Amino acid sequence: MVKTRFAPSPTGFLHVGGLRTALFSYLFARRQGGAFMLRIEDTDQERLVEGGMENFIRSLRWAGISIDEGVDLSTDGKVIQKGSLGPYIQSERLPIYQKYANQLLAQGQAYYCFCAKERLEELRKFQELNKLPTGYDSRCREIPAAEASERRAAGESAVVRLKMPASGETTFTDLIRGEVAFQNSLIDDQVIVKSDGFPTYHLAAVVDDHLMEVTHVIRGEEWLPSTPKHIALYRMLDWKEPAFAHLSLLINEQKQKLSKRHGDVSVEDFQAKGYLAEALVNFIAFLGWNPGDERELFTLGELEREFSLEKVSKAAAVFNREKLNWYNRQYMMSLDLNELTRRAVPFFKHAGVLHKTGTDEPAELASLKNVVALERQRSATLAELAEATGFMFADELAYEPELLVWKKSTKKETETKLEALSEFLLTLAEFEWTAEKLDAAVQGWIKKNGYGVGDVLWPMRVALSGQKNSPGPFEIAAVLGKKKTLERLSTARKKLA
Ligand code: GLU
Repeated sequence: MVKTRFAPSPTGFLHVGGLRTALFSYLFARRQGGAFMLRIEDTDQERLVEGGMENFIRSLRWAGISIDEGVDLSTDGKVIQKGSLGPYIQSERLPIYQKYANQLLAQGQAYYCFCAKERLEELRKFQELNKLPTGYDSRCREIPAAEASERRAAGESAVVRLKMPASGETTFTDLIRGEVAFQNSLIDDQVIVKSDGFPTYHLAAVVDDHLMEVTHVIRGEEWLPSTPKHIALYRMLDWKEPAFAHLSLLINEQKQKLSKRHGDVSVEDFQAKGYLAEALVNFIAFLGWNPGDERELFTLGELEREFSLEKVSKAAAVFNREKLNWYNRQYMMSLDLNELTRRAVPFFKHAGVLHKTGTDEPAELASLKNVVALERQRSATLAELAEATGFMFADELAYEPELLVWKKSTKKETETKLEALSEFLLTLAEFEWTAEKLDAAVQGWIKKNGYGVGDVLWPMRVALSGQKNSPGPFEIAAVLGKKKTLERLSTARKKLA
């Protein structure tokens, strides 16, 4: 059975690039009828971030990626582990790595290295200065094993290094890149156990991928140079290696690697800005993949049925924010209105709007729904939507009286029109208070009186929204209701007087 894994180091927050790796691993497993596993690689204890693990899982779940095996969160938000091949958190597996490090030492395929940090730093400086490839020079490789053991027993500090084959090539077939070859002589002897006894990523990842029966390792391109080291480990331990697929880099429009310095990169940032999970996932799926035809809109379920690694490109994928906004608009328009409203609630709260209208009681939600319907086509995100509809809830609108005046009209003229309009609106019954009926009634009234359309509708709209650009006057009036509409018209007249 196919099994893929996402294996983050919880040293920060889930990056959109990480989400893509997780998503592609997940989609591949689903398409193959396999399982998707989440493993936490926390062997670099110094770089751990408090709450990082929970953040990763929450972000994955928000995106709709479900975890079949490994680390997950319970309904009450606690970290749990599921599956029979755990533990799935590397810091809980130290004796396992120790065992394989010992085996490699015993087989003569790994060795103790006693080189001090200062020596390694000097070596690096020298290599850099002389434009030589940087890396360990294998000085301790030839120390006889018995001597090394004695030094260890006497308490000397050491790391364990892998004895990479000194010549030849390591080749493998990458499912995205095809044949890849590395000269062994250019690969230095990687540390596999640090002086504190913790394994490095390389040893831990290989041991776990093997013991946890991972069949396909799908990860970012930055791990490609590590793969020959991993393959060496599989061969030394006499294990079957998994298939590898390395995803291309994500870059921004300036062709730079995506980074925090150039704007939002964590999944939480996008969530907080009011991007819908469906939109972000759809957008991210297209960073390097496409179905081979014109279709662009895919639900997660559709992606699970269509995704294939053969259609993943090896070219760097551009993270285009315009495109992301386009996706978000698509989903903002197509999502069920009740659902969209429910998701918009935190943004209304954040914009300081909801507390004025009360809490999210059903009646409030119903009125909120009308507001959401009014603005959903005009906003790229939920945060924008909440901001943009703030005027609907305001007690007072801040705008200059001049804004009410249409083109060549005057303040006096405008005031007269608004007064006449208010009188007319007062005669309309409550049941006529819908956008369509108001539209028909007011337009008819304008015609009958021979007024200019702009002379009435422009000040009406500004009086109701306080803005130069907003939804149409009838849509706003319908949502505001008769009382509030008339109040705003009267405030506008006072401003003009
Ligand atoms: N822990 C590594 C990371 O943080 C995993 C790399 C891999 O997938 O092998 O990305």
